[in-house]
Amino acid sequence: MISSTGVLTIDLTAIQSNWLYVSALLREGAECAAAVKANAYGVGALEVTKALYAVGCRYFYVVTLHEAVELRNALPSDVVLYVLGGVPDDMGDVFVDLNLIPVLYSRLAVEQWLSFCGLHEQAFPCALKLNTGMTRLGLDTAELDQLLEATTNISYLNPVLVMSHLACADEPEHPLNDEQLQRFSSAVIKIKVLYPKVKTSLANSSGTFLGDAYHFDMVRIGAALYGINPQVGSANPLSPVINLKLPVLQIRTAERRESVGYGATVSVATGTRLAVIAGGYADGIHRSLGLCPKGQFDGVDLNAVGRVSMDSCVFDITGVEGDPDYIEVINDALSLDCLMSANKTLGYEVLTSLGGRYRRRYIVAGADNE
Ligand SMILES: *Cc1c(COP(=O)(O)O)cnc(C)c1O
Repeated sequence: MISSTGVLTIDLTAIQSNWLYVSALLREGAECAAAVKANAYGVGALEVTKALYAVGCRYFYVVTLHEAVELRNALPSDVVLYVLGGVPDDMGDVFVDLNLIPVLYSRLAVEQWLSFCGLHEQAFPCALKLNTGMTRLGLDTAELDQLLEATTNISYLNPVLVMSHLACADEPEHPLNDEQLQRFSSAVIKIKVLYPKVKTSLANSSGTFLGDAYHFDMVRIGAALYGINPQVGSANPLSPVINLKLPVLQIRTAERRESVGYGATVSVATGTRLAVIAGGYADGIHRSLGLCPKGQFDGVDLNAVGRVSMDSCVFDITGVEGDPDYIEVINDALSLDCLMSANKTLGYEVLTSLGGRYRRRYIVAGADNE
């Protein structure tokens, strides 16, 4: 039967084994937390968190309060949820009621949280995020110093975690990695004077592969869970997680030399067989893929022809015998990393933009879970 949407298959067992693989690399005592923001990078936050919980993961990172609430309601209460986006106005009570840990990333965010805690006369737990070189969210070193001086008197500050984020972790030779490590380590020493029990965390997926010195008490992995190679240029040690099959809507044979698609950018020779498939840039098949696109049917490599449209794109299937009913654009052989290097886009981008029009199929150790 012809379906008008693609089928995105997500192998939860592969996600579990990626988590176990990275966990086993960590220095003794370090925890492996999972980044499940943006619906677990588009893959499905509920399914992913439940699967990871089953293999022992207890720490999860989301960005918005909304994402946190959804997970809190679905997961056992021993799950620790960090909210990277901080506390929206007047939402402090929700954090306390649902036992969510806000990540405070600016002086203003800290002040607001402290005044909320002051109102309740309770030092509710929070995480502090430091800027050590990413220059995105985070308290600068001077701000941290001021904060630590000020809070020796008013102690509603109760940081359970201090964290920072690496800017160049996927380039192991980049000098900023070591600089950030040094800056973070010095900040940790200062914080521990006042808060000796505070936990520490610096590395994302790629950072974890920089070695033990980067692990601290917790690493926060996203990309690696979903099979994206943490070390550009080396073989990917992780299991592929995603398969995307796009249905063929129409097959045609060029009657003469014909141009294909918007802008008539490409022409095909007489006799070329073309398959029009359901899936375009609205479904995360980026227009940049049109420059160097790859698909597969039955192990045969196929190229796309012409520009990707919003809802469809066209593949040359001259090399395929018979009429394929679908084309795979992501599978074990055509990994997110291939897409990424062939198209100069990030595996992260490809993953998070695989839109809502697909039918999602979750598989666990070979069994189907539609
Ligand atoms: C998204 C995110 C991560 C996970 O990063 P990956 O590169 O996907 O492993 C870790 N820490 C923070 C603060 C993040 O925002």
